[in-house]
Amino acid sequence: MMKHASVVVIGGGIIGSAIAFNLLKMGIKNVCVVEKSYVSSGSTGRCAGGIRQQWSSPLNVKLAMRSVKLFEQFEKDVGMDIEYYQGGYLLLAYTDAESDDFVKNVNMQRSQGLDVDILTQDEIKEKFPFINVEGVKLGSWCKSDGHANPQIANIAYAVAIRKMEGEFLTHTTVTGIDVQNKQIIGVQTDKGYIYTNIVVDAAGFESPKIGSMIRIEIPVQGERHQILVTEAVNHFLDPLVINFNHNYYVRQTRHGSLIMGQGDANPASGEDTGNTIEFLEEMAAKMIKDFPITKNLHIVRQWSGAYDMSPDAQPIIDESKDISRFIYATGFSGHGFMLAPAVGEAVAEMIIHGRTITTDLSNLRMDRFAIGIEREHNVV
Ligand SMILES: Cc1cc2nc3c(=O)[nH]c(=O)nc-3n(C[C@H](O)[C@H](O)[C@H](O)COP(=O)(O)OP(=O)(O)OC[C@H]3O[C@@H](n4cnc5c(N)ncnc54)[C@H](O)[C@@H]3O)c2cc1C
Repeated sequence: MMKHASVVVIGGGIIGSAIAFNLLKMGIKNVCVVEKSYVSSGSTGRCAGGIRQQWSSPLNVKLAMRSVKLFEQFEKDVGMDIEYYQGGYLLLAYTDAESDDFVKNVNMQRSQGLDVDILTQDEIKEKFPFINVEGVKLGSWCKSDGHANPQIANIAYAVAIRKMEGEFLTHTTVTGIDVQNKQIIGVQTDKGYIYTNIVVDAAGFESPKIGSMIRIEIPVQGERHQILVTEAVNHFLDPLVINFNHNYYVRQTRHGSLIMGQGDANPASGEDTGNTIEFLEEMAAKMIKDFPITKNLHIVRQWSGAYDMSPDAQPIIDESKDISRFIYATGFSGHGFMLAPAVGEAVAEMIIHGRTITTDLSNLRMDRFAIGIEREHNVV
């Protein structure tokens, strides 16, 4: 374990790993990731792997577009096949209000350079004959959206970090951060002490606990989300389909399994990794209605994981005003996997240059909450 690190990244999920990878790639030596469990043990290893650019704010669209560029070259840059598949994302609208929002968003997304379309009910039926389009008013369709295997992506970063001579500690818990005169001097772990002046809090839904070690309040809450996987079948589902109205998403893996999940009306806390039979029943009923082709499919496994929810369901990425060089990248609210490559790049730039260069993250600063909260609605 290194005694002195240029940067300590707390949390070895996809966000912490992407940040450490980019720091090393940009030439910073002695970067250390501290992960309390195994690689991908947090939300990342429990996530559905969806990657979309269809957001409702221009800066989020830009950030997601940058991420897609980086996913397109991930295998070359990071060195592993992560089952990346650009089969598109299809968002279904059922009400006039939802349809108006979709049209407004598509116009904005196009103004950012995204190739995205509105599909009529007939067009959806023709393109995706296995979807029951009863009640569907229209769809928003982006063919360069897609999905990948989040566990492999997380492992790919960890392997690349070690290859570049960064340290990736697993089964090592950060228990304290020492500060003198508002400067960080080191990080205490249960396996030893690491001297450093720069700390990144990438601890997912547990990021507030890291902040509280140095009295920084991070407004993030863990929210349990359930998910399941079916037996494998022949490929039929190119896009990841999101249905906000019926509250679910579904995609097919390279292997052939369907992965699907929904939001709970009253979600349990993020610490709770339990599962419910109600989820299985509700999810299965929705699938059989909207995708009748899935009627006789067997479910092979269910699990749950935490969304690190922020007050407006958008990430919080910033450097503390109170403690010098304490940086946090958290609050991803169910879409941290897809943003990780671009966030990793931008946060590495923040650390090295004091500002982002490739992608503007100014809309994700902490001080936005003082102005007022406008929630991202396109979240399941
Ligand atoms: C069911 C489900 C479906 C999802 N689907 C999608 C999707 O389709 N697309 C998408 O983009 N996102 C999705 N997400 C969200 C996505 O998983 C998260 O936004 C993303 O994984 C966050 O990454 P992270 O690195 O911030 O957090 P994590 O992966 O949780 O990593 C944080 C790490 O910090 C470690 N840690 C915590 N405290 C300490 C400590 N004191 N010391 C050392 N280490 C510590 C934890 O062990 C953990 O490994 C989904 C999430 C869930 C639960």
